[in-house]
Amino acid sequence: MKVLKFGGTSVGSVSSILSLQKIVKKEAKHQPIIVVVSALGGITDQLIATSQLALKGDESWKTEFDSIVARHHKMIDAIITDPHDREVLFNKVDSLFEQLHSIYYGVFLIHDLSHKTEDTIVSYGERLSSRIVATLIRGAKWFDAREFIKTEEKLGKRSLDSELTNKLVVNTFSDLPRISLVPGFIAQDRDSGDITNLGRGGSDYTASILAASLNAEVLEIWTDVDGFMTADPRVIKSAYTINELSYTEAMELCNFGAKVVYPPTIYPV
Ligand code: ADP
Ligand code: ASP
Ligand code: MG
Repeated sequence: MKVLKFGGTSVGSVSSILSLQKIVKKEAKHQPIIVVVSALGGITDQLIATSQLALKGDESWKTEFDSIVARHHKMIDAIITDPHDREVLFNKVDSLFEQLHSIYYGVFLIHDLSHKTEDTIVSYGERLSSRIVATLIRGAKWFDAREFIKTEEKLGKRSLDSELTNKLVVNTFSDLPRISLVPGFIAQDRDSGDITNLGRGGSDYTASILAASLNAEVLEIWTDVDGFMTADPRVIKSAYTINELSYTEAMELCNFGAKVVYPPTIYPV
């Protein structure tokens, strides 16, 4: 069994999402796979920016919201060709957008944005993208990550409840479908039931939690570079890919700021 994670860079454009489809099809021929996806690239930032506009009472939150809707609609139009699949997906996506619109409108009206509301708002990124990818990949079974990725609040700090999460993951995937589709990043508070998340960049962590709990043979993190590099290629042009790293070295690289993998990711695997 393999876990494959695709980040915002891999679900951000029509061509990258179609590459994802190809990779998943090929891998699923050999073994059952779990696919974890992030929000479409840039959407989480845009969801946050829109909530800030609404909070300030700035009417332009509506334009931002409309552009988020348009981006998802355009993506669906480009990649989902079956009329029935497309209709079902549009209904699902639009009902999520209806909820999101109401939440933003509430923030705008009462000028209040609590942590709980913010966490709810950002969760829509992965809830939308995962539905789109689950429709694109025929036969994929969609799972709600909130049912098994559980966080807890201790002294005002949020962390993963690993023991409970591990148990729930094992239960949920005891009968492993050929292709499972899981939204990354999002989680649920084990006590209040509120929507939470694993922190920015947290989809990597979702994937590694699943891989470790289910004793996967491999965890693959697909992104827009070929691997861990000696430095961020956006900053250091001469950076090159490292062929092999120990877990400890990978953890050090992440902890010291290599923004390619979310730091807590290495620990479970
Ligand atoms: P994703 O959306 O797939 O999660 P990220 O933007 O989080 O992608 O991570 C990939 C990016 O991380 C690369 O495009 C690269 O610019 C950047 N990066 C920073 N440091 C490193 C590093 N040491 N090795 C590789 N990539 C790095
Ligand atoms: N969409 C979330 C973020 O932008 C999680 C992720 O991409 O891993 O932080
Ligand atoms: Mg990332």
